Amino acid sequence: MSQDAASNEPWTIRRVLDWTRGHFDKQQIDAARLTAELLLAHVLSTTRVKLFMDLDRPLTKDELATYKALIQRRLAYEPTQYLIGQKEFYNRPFKVDARVLIPRPETELLVQTVLGLLPKDAPARVLDLCTGSGCIGISIAAERPLTSVWATDLSGDALEVAKANAEALQVSGRVTFFKGDLLAPVPADAQFDVIVSNPPYISSPQLPGLQKEVQKEPKLALDGGADGLAVIRPLVAAAMPRLKAGGWLALEIDEDQGPPVKALLEAAGAVDVRIDKDFARHDRMVFGRAKAS
Ligand code: GLN
Repeated sequence: MSQDAASNEPWTIRRVLDWTRGHFDKQQIDAARLTAELLLAHVLSTTRVKLFMDLDRPLTKDELATYKALIQRRLAYEPTQYLIGQKEFYNRPFKVDARVLIPRPETELLVQTVLGLLPKDAPARVLDLCTGSGCIGISIAAERPLTSVWATDLSGDALEVAKANAEALQVSGRVTFFKGDLLAPVPADAQFDVIVSNPPYISSPQLPGLQKEVQKEPKLALDGGADGLAVIRPLVAAAMPRLKAGGWLALEIDEDQGPPVKALLEAAGAVDVRIDKDFARHDRMVFGRAKAS
């Protein structure tokens, strides 16, 4: 910013946004203008819309310094959502940082479908495995006030974020968190109406080729082992026996995992197994249910 030709002019909101857009474009940072707006709104503790009502407001020295530091981090490929500490998911703000995967729009589809499987006016029990930020389990609890949700994660760091989210979104009374591998920490006699998970499913050889921003996300949340199914395999085996009669297992998967995951569910005794697609028409979810008694 300091090398700008007209450097005696004040750095107004307008000028800062224009400059940043140009710089991000040059450095091939995605969504340059939107990113600049999100970062600046964050620094000024305001909204993107309000920035436009105040385009001629000059930034103070401190604001400019804080903003510049964020720009530097973004240029080093830190995801925007980590820099602002937040990501919207299913119409609610979730706190995110480098301890958790950033919730994706595809996962909102998974939540939407699971909500359709749950009764609106009767109690239900849901288990969310690999909960990360808690986005799946917390959204379900918030949308279905009679539902109680249990959620597990191997990462204690992730669970701290998830607990803060449950608290902030006022569902902490109905979401219980357990630290451990898949169903291992869940009391052995508990049975569920729905077990849902967005597990790590990227195959290890694909990890180095991912976008630089994605590589800043926790490897634990992404890495699905040699063939991408290293977590899904034990997950299906452990989850099927824990469903109530007629209960559903709902999984997010990689686009090439539909047929093998469908086969895993069927081998574990699931019925009505189906593969659903995402917005890009890629296979993205697999559903199957325990036989009705
Ligand atoms: N459940 C979280 C999400 O969907 C985290 C998933 C993960 O860490 N693999 O975003």
